[in-house]
Amino acid sequence: MLRGIKIHSYKESTRHEKIEGLPFPEKVTLYASQHIGAHSRIIVKKNEQVRRGQAVAQPQGRCSSYLHASIGGKVQDITVLPRPDGLVCEAVVIAREGDQAIQLMEPVKDITPESIRSRVSEAGIVGMGGAGFPASVKLDPPKPVQTAFLNACECEPYLTADERLLIEDAKKVVEGFRLVKKAVGAEKGIIGIEDDKKHAIGVLRQVTGSSGDIELSVLPKVYPQGYEKMLITAVTGKEVPSGGLPHDVGVSVHNVGTCLAVYEAVNEGKPLIERVLTLAGPQLIDSVNIRVSIGTGIREIIDYYQVIRTASSRILIGGPMMGFAVDDIDSAVMKTTSGILVDNAGKTVEHPCSGCGKCVDVCPMGLVPQRLNRFYDGKDYAGMKSEGLLDCMECGCCAYICPCGVPLTYKFKAGKRKL
Ligand code: SF4
Ligand code: SF4
Repeated sequence: MLRGIKIHSYKESTRHEKIEGLPFPEKVTLYASQHIGAHSRIIVKKNEQVRRGQAVAQPQGRCSSYLHASIGGKVQDITVLPRPDGLVCEAVVIAREGDQAIQLMEPVKDITPESIRSRVSEAGIVGMGGAGFPASVKLDPPKPVQTAFLNACECEPYLTADERLLIEDAKKVVEGFRLVKKAVGAEKGIIGIEDDKKHAIGVLRQVTGSSGDIELSVLPKVYPQGYEKMLITAVTGKEVPSGGLPHDVGVSVHNVGTCLAVYEAVNEGKPLIERVLTLAGPQLIDSVNIRVSIGTGIREIIDYYQVIRTASSRILIGGPMMGFAVDDIDSAVMKTTSGILVDNAGKTVEHPCSGCGKCVDVCPMGLVPQRLNRFYDGKDYAGMKSEGLLDCMECGCCAYICPCGVPLTYKFKAGKRKL
């Protein structure tokens, strides 16, 4: 059952502008936890000199990740710091010094599923769409996969980083997607993209051409089309079962930035040390897409673009629908940071639920948010679970549509934490 909502995209200010490069920051903060799974183990010491691209932390176990210095310099500190979401973890702080040439690995010569996965792991690549699942693990699905998806929907309002990457670097993204397809063993590749991305669609048509191994699926714009379960159903008609994952229906879904990183790691030997993100919002005169070193401070970016903030300004990581408010502006960009949004926190007055049922009509997962809300208010978290809470993708559609201003998504996130 798939629904969703039509919302204004606010993408016009950035989708036509070239990605800008930000100067190297004075220092970077590299969190040892930038992914789902065990923290990385830090392997450098305080005061050690590191080169840009050098590994500073190793994975601990299969579901973990390498971490590399995103600038060259001196390890200023190894300490415990809060991430933008408030979670506290170990971090390596590097102060910039000297040469900023990247220490590259040798390109992979013998391209096999194993060599792709191994390089993707060495390069510290994680899902860059926000989930942060170590990509080498995702490239080794536990069930046979027939179809690989390149998720080019980027349905969150304001965000256009993926769209610009497709326009400016489509060849590399598509080649990276071919490597991903090979690694997961899929016969078929599908690029899912929404129909408002006209320029990117034109470029992708040229790049994929008549190769026959990759098909373009242009979908009507509806939020949250980029959620992988929704995308799979929209294109194939298959529904990922409750509690299941895409490989349960023979599918593997990958993000645009991740595919570019896979290409660069395999063919150019480049570790994941930078990413493109959108800096946008109603508080900005000029919204931009920027290429930043992982670990750059959020404050540094905002100050560089002279973003004017007032007492009611709010900084979100990600978009306005699925993003979260930054706890500490001195925290830093992570591998999963797709956007920084500066807006005004308007006050919403909450009224008791009127039972209108609008939240039920829009929930893409076929849940009954009003019932989940009742369970939450009654502190019945087990009831929330039996009502399907764990299938909630926190897309925000129900809260967006609710005429009574009930902060439904907030309550569902809190309910999950309780569980
Ligand atoms: S936030 Fe959860 S409950 Fe609300 S519409 Fe999205 S999936 Fe459904
Ligand atoms: S949309 Fe809001 S008011 Fe309407 S049923 Fe859902 S929670 Fe209640």
